[in-house]
Parts: sequence; C-alpha cells; structure tokens
Amino acid sequence: MTRYFARRASGRWSACPAVAMGAVVWLVLLALGLAGLAGVVGPGPVLAVAAPVETAAPAGGSGAAGPELVVHFLDVGQGDATLLQGPGFTILIDAGRHDRADVVPHLEAIGVETIDLFIGTHPHSDHIGQCAAVLRRFPVREVWLTGHEHTTLTYERCLDAILDSEAGYREPRAGETVTLGGARLEVVHPAQLTGDLNNDSIAVRFVYGDVVILFTGDAEAGAETAMVERGLPLQADILHMGHHGSRTSSTEGFLAVVGPRVAIYSAGRDNSYGHPHQEALARVAAVAAFVYGTDVNGTVRVQTDGSTYQVVPERGGPVGATSDLSDAGEPAATETGTGSPSEPALGAACMPGQIDINTASAQELTGLIHVGPVLAERIVALRPFASVADLVQVPGIGASRLADIEAQGMACAAP
Ligand SMILES: [Zn+2]
Repeated sequence: MTRYFARRASGRWSACPAVAMGAVVWLVLLALGLAGLAGVVGPGPVLAVAAPVETAAPAGGSGAAGPELVVHFLDVGQGDATLLQGPGFTILIDAGRHDRADVVPHLEAIGVETIDLFIGTHPHSDHIGQCAAVLRRFPVREVWLTGHEHTTLTYERCLDAILDSEAGYREPRAGETVTLGGARLEVVHPAQLTGDLNNDSIAVRFVYGDVVILFTGDAEAGAETAMVERGLPLQADILHMGHHGSRTSSTEGFLAVVGPRVAIYSAGRDNSYGHPHQEALARVAAVAAFVYGTDVNGTVRVQTDGSTYQVVPERGGPVGATSDLSDAGEPAATETGTGSPSEPALGAACMPGQIDINTASAQELTGLIHVGPVLAERIVALRPFASVADLVQVPGIGASRLADIEAQGMACAAP
C-alpha cells in the first residue's frame, strides 16, 4: 500500500497533499505525543497514538460511566460494516460488499456526518466493497488498511478515493494503541503481513470504559493462534466473530482467551458459503451466553454507557445461547461490562394496576396489547427485563408492537 501510494504519487502526489500531510502528521504525533495533538489537528475528536500496550490490563479499566456509545453491526448482506458512534468519535470498521450500495444509506439514516476513522480490515470486496462510496460521501479523517497490494477494481477504487480525499493514512500493527474521543483502540493484529489476506486482517480491541469489543475481520485459525501467542490483552465482553462465523475461525483456544459474553457475526441470509457454520456457532455458544447474527437479527446494535451494555437486534432474539431462550435466569438484552447480569436500574416502580413484566404470570401478561399466550411464555422465559423497552428482545415483539405496548401504558418493569 505504501508502495502503491509512492507509485501513484509520482503523478498525483502534488495533487493530493493530504496523504503526505497525513504521514507528516503521524510522524509529528509520534514525536510530540498526545499533548501536542490537539494543536496539530485542530478542533474535533482526538485521535492519539500511544506507545504499544505494555501490560495486560483488565477489560476496560477506565471506570466511570459516560455518554452513550452505540455500535451498529449493520445488516449489509454477506459482508461486514460496523459503525461505532460515541462521544467525540465515529468509527467505521469495513464498508460492505462491492455489489451492493447500502452502507452510505445506512450511515445517512443513522445521521453520520463525519467519520474519524475508517478501518478496512482487509482488501476483500465484502469488506472494502463500498470504501470508495463512503470516502466520497463523508469527510474521513483517517483510513487504516493492512498495506496489502490487491489487484481488484474495488480495491483500486478504494485507494483512489483515499488519495482524492483529505484522509490521513496508516497501516497499523499489533501493539499500537489509539485514543479516539472517549474510546481506546488497541491493535492486536497483524504484527506483520504474511500475504494471507484473511489472516492478515486488522484486528482491534475496542475499549470504552469497562466495555470491550473485539473485531477480527476475517481472521482465521492461524491469526487467532498468533494473537493468543502474542500475549496482548484479548479479553472482550463482545466478540465480532471472525470471517462471518466461518468454521475456520472462532477456535476454542482463542475463545477461551477472549471469553466473550456476547458474540455477533455478520452474514447474509442463505449465503453461498453456508455462514455461519454450525461448528463455529457451537464453539462460541460454549463460551458466550448470547449469539446474534445479522442474517437472523438484521442490524444488531449495542448500546453502552461504558459501564453496562445492551444488545438490541433489529428483529428476533438471540440466534443461539448456552442458556438458550429457556433459561429464565439471564436477561437477553442487558449485561454488565463485567459479564454478570446488570442491575435493572432503568426499571421504574410499577403503579397500581400495571402489569410487571418481570413478575406477572403468563395469563396476566396477556393483558398487554399484542401479547397472547405464546408471547407471554416467551416474556416469562426471557426475564428479567431492565425496562419495558427491552421487550423488543422477545421474538415476535418488534419496534411497532413495542411502541403500542408502551403507548398502552400497562407494562412496567420493576427492578
Ligand atoms: Zn469477509
């Protein structure tokens, strides 16, 4: 990639000072460190480089709850695109498929105006497919790619769009950490390129307060082993399953180290690869309590204040779970950053005459609009709920039914 830029630069460098600027800025940043950063890049979210991670910090660790971060595992068919929007930063990890045009509309619908960091985990066209479209639609401050040279038209268009943009450019390597607004990104892979595009995927451990999410692109067993052997912290509350839930990823040893509470894969419904593979789902389900997939759940959102988090699928309930839907002891939607069920702090006290969704009998629950015997049993099985809004976790209760239930005013969720 650097060579690509150098090659292209012979004819276009002068027309694209931003790339050179980007390189200079990074050198300056490395030299000056965080203190000088704001002055260098001006207003806006801080994207700071720190020294490689030195110690195995516990998950998160920065402590206090803060403003809300929303992670959107976008339903973009058989491809990846994940948006992380938090206080002072917007990050896009991968940009969907080359044969679709859904990423920009998704981002527009969410209200994205600027992207601070775009990470193309690797050059395959189901990950950087709409890279050029994104870069031409939104101001992007910085782009990360692996540095592979790849010959597809999709990849060339992506590189051209970077060159034509004002974005800085970087090829991150394991051990680097970056602070962005209130979040920390730890690069955990690759240390160097091997030539295997999937296994050279950029993997990042995203830390927001006490909540940690691990993204590994299409990393497969080889990369997972390398990550474990490298010894950098990998623990995460939420794992974005490698390679769309392929059996070649999510290996036992890796999962044992990561220890996710929730696993989410990105895959298209009825895709020709058979993703997600049952073997991978089974391995993940042996570790994680809840598994979601964009093929089943549509866009899956994770909302967090850095202390607790909530998984909100567009539709349906978890794809698979060790505790399964029949385990009444675990809330499907709300988990704490430490992996134990969170305090249902959002649950307001119930008023006389209301139906407490956490204690009412199935018969009593049918007093709620749209709730018949089947849904009532599902509600009972998925208890406890932190709030009435969490009823959206119940298969069969979508956003519109939830709106009706809330409008009815009969439901409450006592802590
Ligand atoms: Zn892929």
